[in-house]
Amino acid sequence: MYRAVQSTTPTVSLDTVYRTLWLLTDLGLLTTLGPRQGSMRFDANVESHHHYVCTRCGLVRDFNSDDLDALKIPDTVRQFGQVASARVEIRGICDRCLKERLESQPTHAHQPPRSEKRSQS
Ligand SMILES: [Zn+2]
Ligand SMILES: [Zn+2]
Repeated sequence: MYRAVQSTTPTVSLDTVYRTLWLLTDLGLLTTLGPRQGSMRFDANVESHHHYVCTRCGLVRDFNSDDLDALKIPDTVRQFGQVASARVEIRGICDRCLKERLESQPTHAHQPPRSEKRSQS
């Protein structure tokens, strides 16, 4: 009896977790986010909001904007069906990535700090 219980108790696999997340996505309780860089991101914030997405590291930030909320939905979209809400995804390179990129540029950074100050004459 004990053995039967043990053998039928599966360890929760990542697969199951993802299946559940996709189910929630279907129910509109989650939305998927960002560039698909191997891993999928899920957004638990279902309130009306918009996103800033870093295309380099996949960072996602929520933000609100009355202007974007009042976005006019083009007729071309309506022909696909009913429109419930619209989200704007602003894409770019985040500050951290910009900084990293600057620092990894061989000509500018990564030079040993030198305190010597030559008088040029
Ligand atoms: Zn980034
Ligand atoms: Zn969000």
